[in-house]
Amino acid sequence: CGIIGYCGHRPAVPLVLEGLKRLEYRGYDSAGLAFLQLNKLEVIRSEGKLCNLEEKVAKTANTFAPISIGHTRWATHGLPVERNSHPHKSNNDALAIVHNGIIENFQEIKDELIQKGYVFHSDTDTEVLVNLVADELDSVLQINFGKKYVEIQQDMDEAFQKNPELYLPFLEQAFCSALQKAHGAYAVVVLSPLIPQHILAARLSAPLLLGIGIGEYFVASDVPAFLPYTRDVVFLDDREYVVLSAGAYAVKNIFTAEKLEKTVHHIPWDLQG
Ligand code: GLU
Repeated sequence: CGIIGYCGHRPAVPLVLEGLKRLEYRGYDSAGLAFLQLNKLEVIRSEGKLCNLEEKVAKTANTFAPISIGHTRWATHGLPVERNSHPHKSNNDALAIVHNGIIENFQEIKDELIQKGYVFHSDTDTEVLVNLVADELDSVLQINFGKKYVEIQQDMDEAFQKNPELYLPFLEQAFCSALQKAHGAYAVVVLSPLIPQHILAARLSAPLLLGIGIGEYFVASDVPAFLPYTRDVVFLDDREYVVLSAGAYAVKNIFTAEKLEKTVHHIPWDLQG
């Protein structure tokens, strides 16, 4: 199983597919990726080998987005079929998430979300997590704007013209409070139309590292995913999250949101090494 996320100046979808291939050695039963198209989440998923996903991507128009997230799944909750493949979207289409690991208290959270009216289309713990973030997001948006995501959507274009980072702190806050409620192990990456120039990623007891390029950044489960592009790596520690755009990154603590100074390591080995 593996994860890759990319923010940069290259077409992200082919790069993410290529990165997933470099993570194939980790094993998987299905795969998928997401990107934004006209500020809407576009998700392509397939069971089986990556060539199945590749075929579907080839049939999809306009895959030139500069940001994308991808996943190879090793099923823990639910059969290895397409509807359980990642990325998973929230009910309101505000977020797509890829996740490696297990959310141990997913059933408890799922029951609460079902009570609130959320509907689940997969058997995964991951779909619970993405809806938990969406639920936290709606609470945060309600407090700050008096509106939920579905109502904010209409004003989004105008809002971005004024300030493309308007919603970033609110999504960060929702992401962190959801992760504080989720127990278990995770490496997660989030893509959202609310933050069209950024991705968020976090880890707890599952591998996730950051690749530092020039005008481009990567998150991945392991170095080979982005090795053709950079050897400069930041290792994320447990309970840290990262905010990425094409031009900057910031690593922060999930509980305090405090910005952390991280060492950049240069990896000397190459793919043949
Ligand atoms: N628990 C998640 C699932 O079953 C993620 C599995 C993985 O690590 O790939 O979908």
